[in-house]
Amino acid sequence: MMGPPTIARPEIGMVVLQPTAFCNIDCTYCYLPDRDSRHVMAQSTVARVFDEVFASGWASREIIVLWHAGEPTAAPISFYREAFAAIERGRPPSVGVKHSFQTNGTLINDEWCRLFRDWNVGIGVSIDGPRDIHDRHRKTRRGGGTFDKTLAGIRCLQRNGVPFHALSVLGSAGLDDPDAMLAFYESERIDKVCFNVEESEGTYISELFASSREELRARFTAFLRRFWHNARANGRVKFVREIDQAVPRLFRPDGMPARNIQCEPLAMLNVDSHGNVSTFSPELLGMKNADYGDFLLGNINVDSLADIHAACLASRLHRDIRAGMQACEKSCEYHSVCGGGSPVNKLFENGSFISTVTSFCTLTQMVPADIILEAYERLEQAWVDPTKAATPADIISSPPPTVEATAQPSRMP
Ligand code: SF4
Repeated sequence: MMGPPTIARPEIGMVVLQPTAFCNIDCTYCYLPDRDSRHVMAQSTVARVFDEVFASGWASREIIVLWHAGEPTAAPISFYREAFAAIERGRPPSVGVKHSFQTNGTLINDEWCRLFRDWNVGIGVSIDGPRDIHDRHRKTRRGGGTFDKTLAGIRCLQRNGVPFHALSVLGSAGLDDPDAMLAFYESERIDKVCFNVEESEGTYISELFASSREELRARFTAFLRRFWHNARANGRVKFVREIDQAVPRLFRPDGMPARNIQCEPLAMLNVDSHGNVSTFSPELLGMKNADYGDFLLGNINVDSLADIHAACLASRLHRDIRAGMQACEKSCEYHSVCGGGSPVNKLFENGSFISTVTSFCTLTQMVPADIILEAYERLEQAWVDPTKAATPADIISSPPPTVEATAQPSRMP
């Protein structure tokens, strides 16, 4: 028997805004359904989102505003200058706002860099590795490769002194060659990296999912262990999200729960370019399902945040996601690190929110936790017996995660 839904006060930690659904390129694994639509979010919608968020008293001390779910640089720079200024005018002093872009990098120029610097925008650039790996899936609308343009965008960021991290989707080729991946980042002076293992999305079937969950787990473990060890050993790649983001979740003060904002009502507020609102995993926005319809809870142009919250609490969506978290809590030894997983992956991999293990959680929670604990055990052995060297260059030397590199749900392409 499930208890009544929690009526806890929401705490909004991230607002994912879709400035436009449009994307100027056409990756083979893209899950965004409306990427041909050139509609751009109205400034009145941006203003309304933040009027509601700030007036609600539900904002965290710092809100990450992630501009994504289409290519954010496909909207004009003037759109952001106006939107950022309006948000800043309404921002209470007690709430910090950190803007963040996840971009394919192909349209970045000096003017974009000025915007990024002026507003201290966190930037993630999607680049899958060396040219032959990147161009396999990240295609122009005419089917050509996008490597040169993405790299030109990265070089422009570097020239202008704009910090960024790389986000790489790992397919078969990258997964089997951690040394080539590391050599690529080093040669391009990319020092912060994040990995998403390629998934089957919509009509795209990843060849990785032909293998069993255990085979994929072993493959990714081998990749990540070697990549991390070598990156730490030479120090040129300083941040590996899968490890550096997991360390503080594993080693945290007693009694501090691992927060999972994909499972808390309104902790992630996801708004499409028309003002439609959903919460939980941002990938649900724009998807349809026989049991849950379009996953929408209202439209911010006409509904208050309080009404949207009430609709969420009353929904089957909330009830089932909560039941899935409770199932995880009962059955999974990684729950204290993970906090209940990614609802969208439970639904699409297992066919139900009321489920537990997915390939996604195996790769993003279990594998990093195992590798860190493995290293920690070696470290402990070295403390007991100093003749046993502790490698990799000690977890303790890991730098703290950067805000921008931790800002996005790990599944975004
Ligand atoms: S690791 Fe997987 S099974 Fe375990 S709590 Fe997270 S989502 Fe649930």
